[in-house]
Amino acid sequence: MVGLTLLPRPPKSGLVKTARNTGQANSLNLAKGHHNLVYDSQVKAETDALYQRVNKVISPLEWPAFAPLIAAINRLKKERDAVILAHNYMTAEIFNCVGDFRGDSLGLAREAANVSAKVIVQAGVHFMAETSKILSPDKMVLIPSLEAGCSLAASITGEDVALIKQRYPGIPVVTYVNTTAEVKAQSDICCTSSNAIQVVETLAREWGVDQVILLPDEYLAKNVAAQTKIKILAWGGKCEVHERFTPDDIAEIRASHPGAVILAHPECPPEVVAVSDFTGSTGAMSDYVEVHRPKKVVLITECSMSDNVAVAHPDVEFIKPCHLCPHMKMITLEAIYDALLTLRYEVVLDPVISARAKKAVDAMLALPSAPAGIFDPTRAVPSHLELI
Ligand code: SF4
Repeated sequence: MVGLTLLPRPPKSGLVKTARNTGQANSLNLAKGHHNLVYDSQVKAETDALYQRVNKVISPLEWPAFAPLIAAINRLKKERDAVILAHNYMTAEIFNCVGDFRGDSLGLAREAANVSAKVIVQAGVHFMAETSKILSPDKMVLIPSLEAGCSLAASITGEDVALIKQRYPGIPVVTYVNTTAEVKAQSDICCTSSNAIQVVETLAREWGVDQVILLPDEYLAKNVAAQTKIKILAWGGKCEVHERFTPDDIAEIRASHPGAVILAHPECPPEVVAVSDFTGSTGAMSDYVEVHRPKKVVLITECSMSDNVAVAHPDVEFIKPCHLCPHMKMITLEAIYDALLTLRYEVVLDPVISARAKKAVDAMLALPSAPAGIFDPTRAVPSHLELI
Protein backbone atom coordinates (compact mmCIF):
# COMPACT_ATOMS: atom_id res chain seq x y z
CA MET A 1 0.00 0.00 0.00
CA VAL A 2 1.24 3.45 -0.79
CA GLY A 3 1.11 6.10 1.89
CA LEU A 4 2.31 6.99 5.27
CA THR A 5 2.75 4.08 7.58
CA LEU A 6 3.38 4.23 11.26
CA LEU A 7 6.49 2.19 11.91
CA PRO A 8 7.22 2.56 15.61
CA ARG A 9 10.80 1.61 16.40
CA PRO A 10 12.99 1.88 19.45
CA PRO A 11 15.43 4.78 19.36
CA LYS A 12 18.95 3.90 18.26
CA SER A 13 20.53 5.65 21.20
CA GLY A 14 19.48 5.37 24.79
CA LEU A 15 17.57 8.65 24.75
CA VAL A 16 14.35 7.12 26.02
CA LYS A 17 15.25 4.06 28.05
CA THR A 18 11.70 2.74 28.33
CA ALA A 19 10.57 3.27 24.72
CA ARG A 20 8.31 0.50 23.45
CA ASN A 21 6.92 -0.29 20.06
CA THR A 22 3.43 0.93 20.87
CA GLY A 23 2.00 4.34 20.25
CA GLN A 24 0.55 4.44 23.76
CA ALA A 25 3.84 3.72 25.45
CA ASN A 26 5.57 6.25 23.24
CA SER A 27 3.09 9.01 23.98
CA LEU A 28 3.42 8.45 27.72
CA ASN A 29 7.18 8.60 27.54
CA LEU A 30 7.13 11.56 25.20
CA ALA A 31 4.78 13.57 27.37
CA LYS A 32 7.21 12.97 30.22
CA GLY A 33 10.10 13.89 27.93
CA HIS A 34 8.53 17.22 27.06
CA HIS A 35 7.91 18.02 30.70
CA ASN A 36 11.55 17.33 31.52
CA LEU A 37 12.71 20.02 29.11
CA VAL A 38 13.23 23.28 30.95
CA TYR A 39 14.53 26.73 30.11
CA ASP A 40 17.78 26.76 32.10
CA SER A 41 21.05 28.62 31.69
CA GLN A 42 22.44 25.98 29.30
CA VAL A 43 19.39 26.18 27.02
CA LYS A 44 19.52 29.97 27.17
CA ALA A 45 23.17 29.94 26.12
CA GLU A 46 22.45 27.49 23.28
CA THR A 47 19.48 29.45 21.94
CA ASP A 48 20.16 33.16 22.58
CA ALA A 49 21.58 33.70 19.08
CA LEU A 50 18.51 32.03 17.56
CA TYR A 51 16.21 34.29 19.55
CA GLN A 52 17.96 37.35 18.11
CA ARG A 53 16.87 36.06 14.70
CA VAL A 54 13.17 35.83 15.57
CA ASN A 55 12.66 38.46 18.28
CA LYS A 56 10.56 40.59 15.93
CA VAL A 57 7.89 37.89 15.64
CA ILE A 58 8.23 35.89 18.90
CA SER A 59 7.79 37.74 22.21
CA PRO A 60 10.22 37.34 25.14
CA LEU A 61 7.34 35.80 27.11
CA GLU A 62 6.81 33.06 24.50
CA TRP A 63 10.48 32.20 24.00
CA PRO A 64 11.09 30.18 27.23
CA ALA A 65 8.34 27.76 26.06
CA PHE A 66 10.02 27.23 22.67
CA ALA A 67 13.73 27.35 23.55
CA PRO A 68 14.06 24.00 25.44
CA LEU A 69 12.43 22.09 22.55
CA ILE A 70 14.54 23.96 20.00
CA ALA A 71 17.75 23.11 21.88
CA ALA A 72 16.68 19.45 22.26
CA ILE A 73 15.74 19.14 18.58
CA ASN A 74 19.02 20.64 17.42
CA ARG A 75 20.92 18.17 19.63
CA LEU A 76 18.82 15.23 18.41
CA LYS A 77 19.44 16.19 14.77
CA LYS A 78 23.17 15.66 15.28
CA GLU A 79 22.68 12.34 17.08
CA ARG A 80 20.35 11.04 14.38
CA ASP A 81 22.30 12.49 11.43
CA ALA A 82 19.05 14.22 10.46
CA VAL A 83 18.07 17.38 8.62
CA ILE A 84 14.79 19.27 8.78
CA LEU A 85 13.24 20.58 5.55
CA ALA A 86 11.01 23.50 6.57
CA HIS A 87 8.31 24.86 4.29
CA ASN A 88 7.58 28.60 4.18
CA TYR A 89 4.26 27.97 5.98
CA MET A 90 5.91 26.60 9.13
CA THR A 91 5.64 28.75 12.25
CA ALA A 92 8.59 31.09 12.87
CA GLU A 93 10.17 29.03 15.65
CA ILE A 94 10.29 25.95 13.40
CA PHE A 95 11.24 27.71 10.17
CA ASN A 96 14.00 29.85 11.64
CA CYS A 97 15.27 27.88 14.64
CA VAL A 98 15.30 24.18 13.67
CA GLY A 99 14.90 24.19 9.85
CA ASP A 100 18.12 23.30 7.99
CA PHE A 101 16.68 23.96 4.55
CA ARG A 102 13.85 26.42 4.08
CA GLY A 103 11.72 27.37 1.12
CA ASP A 104 8.83 26.53 -1.15
CA SER A 105 7.91 23.09 -2.48
CA LEU A 106 10.30 23.30 -5.42
CA GLY A 107 13.24 24.45 -3.30
CA LEU A 108 12.64 21.72 -0.72
CA ALA A 109 12.27 19.07 -3.44
CA ARG A 110 15.66 20.07 -4.83
CA GLU A 111 17.23 19.92 -1.35
CA ALA A 112 15.68 16.49 -0.68
CA ALA A 113 17.36 15.16 -3.82
CA ASN A 114 20.81 16.32 -2.71
CA VAL A 115 20.80 15.92 1.03
CA SER A 116 23.50 13.66 2.50
CA ALA A 117 22.06 13.09 6.00
CA LYS A 118 20.57 9.67 6.83
CA VAL A 119 17.24 11.03 8.10
CA ILE A 120 14.99 13.71 6.60
CA VAL A 121 12.29 15.26 8.81
CA GLN A 122 9.71 17.00 6.66
CA ALA A 123 8.37 20.09 8.39
CA GLY A 124 5.51 20.36 5.94
CA VAL A 125 2.57 18.22 4.83
CA HIS A 126 2.27 14.61 3.64
CA PHE A 127 2.69 15.19 -0.06
CA MET A 128 5.96 17.03 0.61
CA ALA A 129 7.25 14.13 2.71
CA GLU A 130 6.27 11.71 -0.05
CA THR A 131 8.15 13.86 -2.58
CA SER A 132 11.25 13.73 -0.38
CA LYS A 133 10.96 9.93 -0.14
CA ILE A 134 10.46 9.67 -3.92
CA LEU A 135 13.67 11.65 -4.46
CA SER A 136 15.63 9.99 -1.65
CA PRO A 137 14.31 6.40 -1.56
CA ASP A 138 17.27 5.13 0.50
CA LYS A 139 16.82 7.66 3.28
CA MET A 140 14.50 7.51 6.24
CA VAL A 141 11.89 10.25 5.72
CA LEU A 142 9.76 11.20 8.72
CA ILE A 143 6.56 13.24 8.82
CA PRO A 144 5.99 14.52 12.37
CA SER A 145 2.17 14.30 12.20
CA LEU A 146 -0.07 11.87 10.35
CA GLU A 147 -2.76 14.56 10.31
CA ALA A 148 -0.78 17.00 8.17
CA GLY A 149 -2.75 16.45 4.95
CA CYS A 150 -3.82 18.88 2.23
CA SER A 151 -7.23 19.69 0.69
CA LEU A 152 -5.69 19.90 -2.78
CA ALA A 153 -3.88 16.59 -2.54
CA ALA A 154 -7.08 14.98 -1.24
CA SER A 155 -9.10 16.26 -4.22
CA ILE A 156 -7.81 13.67 -6.71
CA THR A 157 -6.64 10.05 -6.78
CA GLY A 158 -4.36 8.04 -9.03
CA GLU A 159 -7.45 6.26 -10.42
CA ASP A 160 -8.98 9.64 -11.34
CA VAL A 161 -5.87 10.51 -13.35
CA ALA A 162 -5.82 7.08 -15.04
CA LEU A 163 -9.44 7.66 -16.18
CA ILE A 164 -8.64 11.18 -17.41
CA LYS A 165 -5.76 9.76 -19.48
CA GLN A 166 -8.12 7.21 -21.06
CA ARG A 167 -10.57 9.98 -21.87
CA TYR A 168 -7.95 12.38 -23.31
CA PRO A 169 -5.32 10.20 -25.04
CA GLY A 170 -2.32 12.03 -26.49
CA ILE A 171 -2.66 15.05 -24.18
CA PRO A 172 0.19 15.38 -21.67
CA VAL A 173 -0.60 15.41 -17.96
CA VAL A 174 1.05 17.95 -15.66
CA THR A 175 0.39 17.56 -11.95
CA TYR A 176 1.06 20.07 -9.24
CA VAL A 177 3.45 18.72 -6.58
CA ASN A 178 0.61 19.08 -4.08
CA THR A 179 -0.52 15.54 -4.92
CA THR A 180 0.01 12.01 -3.64
CA ALA A 181 2.69 9.68 -5.02
CA GLU A 182 -0.05 7.69 -6.84
CA VAL A 183 -1.17 10.80 -8.70
CA LYS A 184 2.40 11.77 -9.57
CA ALA A 185 2.97 8.21 -10.81
CA GLN A 186 0.20 8.69 -13.41
CA SER A 187 1.69 12.01 -14.62
CA ASP A 188 4.11 12.96 -17.36
CA ILE A 189 5.68 15.75 -15.33
CA CYS A 190 5.14 17.66 -12.08
CA CYS A 191 5.08 21.40 -11.54
CA THR A 192 5.02 23.86 -8.66
CA SER A 193 3.47 27.30 -8.49
CA SER A 194 6.97 28.65 -9.29
CA ASN A 195 7.31 26.89 -12.61
CA ALA A 196 3.75 25.94 -13.70
CA ILE A 197 3.68 28.30 -16.71
CA GLN A 198 7.15 27.15 -17.85
CA VAL A 199 6.25 23.45 -17.45
CA VAL A 200 2.97 23.76 -19.38
CA GLU A 201 4.60 25.60 -22.29
CA THR A 202 7.65 23.30 -22.39
CA LEU A 203 5.53 20.16 -22.38
CA ALA A 204 3.18 21.43 -25.08
CA ARG A 205 6.20 22.27 -27.26
CA GLU A 206 7.88 18.89 -26.67
CA TRP A 207 4.67 16.93 -27.41
CA GLY A 208 3.73 19.17 -30.33
CA VAL A 209 0.24 19.83 -28.90
CA ASP A 210 -1.79 22.93 -28.12
CA GLN A 211 -3.49 21.64 -24.97
CA VAL A 212 -2.27 20.28 -21.65
CA ILE A 213 -4.02 18.66 -18.68
CA LEU A 214 -3.05 20.57 -15.50
CA LEU A 215 -4.20 18.95 -12.20
CA PRO A 216 -5.61 19.35 -9.60
CA ASP A 217 -5.83 23.06 -8.60
CA GLU A 218 -8.58 24.84 -10.51
CA TYR A 219 -7.40 28.33 -9.61
CA LEU A 220 -3.74 27.68 -10.40
CA ALA A 221 -4.91 26.25 -13.75
CA LYS A 222 -7.03 29.34 -14.43
CA ASN A 223 -4.18 31.66 -13.50
CA VAL A 224 -1.80 29.72 -15.77
CA ALA A 225 -4.36 29.73 -18.59
CA ALA A 226 -4.46 33.52 -18.41
CA GLN A 227 -0.71 33.68 -19.12
CA THR A 228 -0.39 31.22 -22.02
CA LYS A 229 -1.94 30.46 -25.38
CA ILE A 230 -1.98 26.73 -24.52
CA LYS A 231 -5.47 25.37 -23.76
CA ILE A 232 -5.65 24.02 -20.20
CA LEU A 233 -7.84 21.07 -19.20
CA ALA A 234 -8.33 21.53 -15.45
CA TRP A 235 -9.68 19.71 -12.38
CA GLY A 236 -11.80 21.32 -9.65
CA GLY A 237 -9.44 20.92 -6.67
CA LYS A 238 -8.91 23.88 -4.33
CA CYS A 239 -6.57 24.93 -1.57
CA GLU A 240 -8.78 25.55 1.45
CA VAL A 241 -6.52 28.42 2.53
CA HIS A 242 -6.22 30.41 -0.70
CA GLU A 243 -9.77 29.85 -1.99
CA ARG A 244 -11.09 31.93 0.94
CA PHE A 245 -9.56 35.21 -0.22
CA THR A 246 -11.92 37.48 -2.19
CA PRO A 247 -11.62 40.70 -4.22
CA ASP A 248 -13.56 42.41 -1.39
CA ASP A 249 -10.76 41.44 1.03
CA ILE A 250 -8.26 43.15 -1.24
CA ALA A 251 -10.44 46.27 -1.53
CA GLU A 252 -10.74 46.44 2.28
CA ILE A 253 -6.99 46.08 2.70
CA ARG A 254 -6.35 48.87 0.19
CA ALA A 255 -8.83 51.13 2.00
CA SER A 256 -7.37 50.44 5.46
CA HIS A 257 -3.69 50.42 4.44
CA PRO A 258 -3.13 52.92 1.64
CA GLY A 259 0.17 52.38 -0.15
CA ALA A 260 0.55 48.72 0.92
CA VAL A 261 1.79 46.45 -1.88
CA ILE A 262 -0.38 43.35 -2.22
CA LEU A 263 1.27 40.05 -3.21
CA ALA A 264 -1.00 37.06 -3.90
CA HIS A 265 -0.40 33.33 -4.34
CA PRO A 266 -1.54 31.73 -7.63
CA GLU A 267 -3.75 29.25 -5.73
CA CYS A 268 -6.02 32.28 -5.06
CA PRO A 269 -9.06 32.81 -7.31
CA PRO A 270 -8.25 34.70 -10.56
CA GLU A 271 -10.47 37.59 -9.39
CA VAL A 272 -8.08 38.08 -6.46
CA VAL A 273 -5.02 37.83 -8.71
CA ALA A 274 -6.58 40.46 -11.02
CA VAL A 275 -6.71 43.09 -8.25
CA SER A 276 -3.38 42.28 -6.56
CA ASP A 277 -0.11 44.06 -7.40
CA PHE A 278 1.88 40.88 -7.97
CA THR A 279 1.18 37.14 -7.96
CA GLY A 280 3.76 34.40 -7.55
CA SER A 281 4.78 31.37 -5.49
CA THR A 282 5.91 31.80 -1.90
CA GLY A 283 9.49 31.88 -3.23
CA ALA A 284 8.57 34.60 -5.74
CA MET A 285 6.88 36.61 -2.98
CA SER A 286 10.06 36.44 -0.86
CA ASP A 287 12.14 37.51 -3.84
CA TYR A 288 9.77 40.42 -4.52
CA VAL A 289 10.19 41.74 -0.96
CA GLU A 290 13.97 41.21 -1.16
CA VAL A 291 14.31 43.09 -4.46
CA HIS A 292 11.68 45.84 -4.12
CA ARG A 293 11.77 46.48 -0.34
CA PRO A 294 8.23 47.92 -0.19
CA LYS A 295 7.53 50.04 2.92
CA LYS A 296 4.31 48.13 3.59
CA VAL A 297 3.39 44.74 2.16
CA VAL A 298 0.53 42.25 2.41
CA LEU A 299 1.08 38.57 1.57
CA ILE A 300 -2.21 36.98 0.46
CA THR A 301 -1.35 33.48 1.60
CA GLU A 302 -0.91 31.30 4.70
CA CYS A 303 -0.31 33.24 7.95
CA SER A 304 3.19 32.05 8.86
CA MET A 305 4.67 33.18 5.56
CA SER A 306 4.55 36.86 6.62
CA ASP A 307 6.36 36.15 9.88
CA ASN A 308 9.08 34.21 8.09
CA VAL A 309 9.70 36.87 5.45
CA ALA A 310 9.51 39.56 8.16
CA VAL A 311 12.38 37.92 10.04
CA ALA A 312 14.64 38.52 7.03
CA HIS A 313 13.28 42.05 6.42
CA PRO A 314 12.87 43.92 9.69
CA ASP A 315 12.66 47.24 7.79
CA VAL A 316 9.44 46.21 5.96
CA GLU A 317 6.01 46.53 7.62
CA PHE A 318 3.90 43.38 7.13
CA ILE A 319 0.11 43.69 7.29
CA LYS A 320 -1.29 40.27 8.11
CA PRO A 321 -4.80 39.48 6.90
CA CYS A 322 -4.18 35.79 6.43
CA HIS A 323 -5.72 32.33 6.77
CA LEU A 324 -4.10 29.47 8.69
CA CYS A 325 -3.56 26.10 7.03
CA PRO A 326 -4.79 23.61 9.65
CA HIS A 327 -2.70 20.85 8.08
CA MET A 328 0.59 22.75 8.20
CA LYS A 329 -0.18 23.71 11.80
CA MET A 330 -0.21 20.03 12.82
CA ILE A 331 3.59 20.27 12.62
CA THR A 332 4.76 21.65 15.96
CA LEU A 333 8.07 21.67 17.81
CA GLU A 334 6.67 18.91 20.03
CA ALA A 335 5.79 16.76 17.02
CA ILE A 336 9.24 17.27 15.48
CA TYR A 337 10.91 16.41 18.78
CA ASP A 338 8.82 13.23 19.07
CA ALA A 339 9.61 12.29 15.47
CA LEU A 340 13.35 12.59 16.05
CA LEU A 341 13.25 10.90 19.44
CA THR A 342 11.35 7.79 18.31
CA LEU A 343 11.99 7.98 14.55
CA ARG A 344 8.26 8.10 13.81
CA TYR A 345 6.32 8.39 11.42
CA GLU A 346 8.30 6.91 8.58
CA VAL A 347 7.07 7.42 5.01
CA VAL A 348 6.82 4.10 3.17
CA LEU A 349 6.03 4.00 -0.56
CA ASP A 350 5.38 1.18 -2.98
CA PRO A 351 8.70 1.00 -4.89
CA VAL A 352 6.97 0.66 -8.29
CA ILE A 353 4.75 3.68 -7.72
CA SER A 354 7.64 5.61 -6.21
CA ALA A 355 9.84 4.92 -9.27
CA ARG A 356 7.06 6.05 -11.65
CA ALA A 357 6.40 9.18 -9.58
CA LYS A 358 10.15 9.91 -9.55
CA LYS A 359 10.15 10.10 -13.36
CA ALA A 360 7.55 12.89 -13.22
CA VAL A 361 9.39 14.79 -10.48
CA ASP A 362 12.78 14.29 -12.19
CA ALA A 363 11.33 15.58 -15.48
CA MET A 364 10.43 18.80 -13.65
CA LEU A 365 13.80 19.08 -11.90
CA ALA A 366 15.61 18.53 -15.21
CA LEU A 367 14.10 21.69 -16.70
CA PRO A 368 16.58 24.55 -16.86
CA SER A 369 16.29 26.85 -13.85
CA ALA A 370 14.19 29.86 -14.73
CA PRO A 371 13.02 32.85 -12.74
CA ALA A 372 9.84 32.05 -10.79
CA GLY A 373 6.79 32.38 -13.06
CA ILE A 374 4.95 35.65 -12.60
CA PHE A 375 1.18 35.80 -13.00
CA ASP A 376 0.84 39.30 -14.39
CA PRO A 377 -2.79 40.37 -14.99
CA THR A 378 -1.57 43.19 -17.26
CA ARG A 379 -0.11 40.54 -19.61
CA ALA A 380 -3.19 38.30 -19.46
CA VAL A 381 -4.24 36.66 -22.72
CA PRO A 382 -7.72 35.33 -23.55
CA SER A 383 -7.64 32.04 -21.70
CA HIS A 384 -8.68 28.67 -23.08
CA LEU A 385 -9.69 26.47 -20.19
CA GLU A 386 -12.06 23.54 -19.77
CA LEU A 387 -12.94 21.91 -16.46
CA ILE A 388 -12.92 18.11 -16.79
S1 SF4 B 1 -1.91 25.75 2.27
FE1 SF4 B 1 -3.40 24.78 0.88
S2 SF4 B 1 -2.14 23.67 -0.63
FE2 SF4 B 1 -0.81 24.13 1.14
S3 SF4 B 1 -0.99 22.33 2.48
FE3 SF4 B 1 -2.54 23.79 3.20
S4 SF4 B 1 -4.41 23.16 2.09
FE4 SF4 B 1 -2.69 22.21 1.01
